[in-house]
Amino acid sequence: MNNSIPREVGGGCLCGAVRFTVTMPTQFCGHCHCTMCRRNHGAAYVTWIAVDRRQVAVERGADELTRYQSSEHGSRSFCRRCGSSLFCVSTHHPDIIDIPLANLDGPIDRLPESHIYFDDRAAWTVIGDDLPRFGGPTGTDPLK
Ligand SMILES: [Zn+2]
Ligand SMILES: [Zn+2]
Repeated sequence: MNNSIPREVGGGCLCGAVRFTVTMPTQFCGHCHCTMCRRNHGAAYVTWIAVDRRQVAVERGADELTRYQSSEHGSRSFCRRCGSSLFCVSTHHPDIIDIPLANLDGPIDRLPESHIYFDDRAAWTVIGDDLPRFGGPTGTDPLK
């Protein structure tokens, strides 16, 4: 992007009970179209960032976070006051935490770079960008 990339970006839930800080650099930013993300967030797709767990600090409201085990390997934490979904973790990549970009206060060190689980997208989703689209069983296989 440019040389105004922040070193740290704050974030939080809708009600403000949970506040956290993410230290750059992140490892990924992309749009997930999987059914679980769509249902959990009530959205066409969820724009996630992925960052090393050690770069995420919950500054306030850790005791307001409730964890929902959304699959065999993954769980999602949300604010029990306002319902905002904040952190997604998976035993498939235990060092990584996924956070919705929309819950951060401002721009991070990268822009969304791809669509994943694109073949699971809602039938009414129309995409107007040229980003690569991935899917298949892993959600990240190249689509033909
Ligand atoms: Zn909240
Ligand atoms: Zn997803």
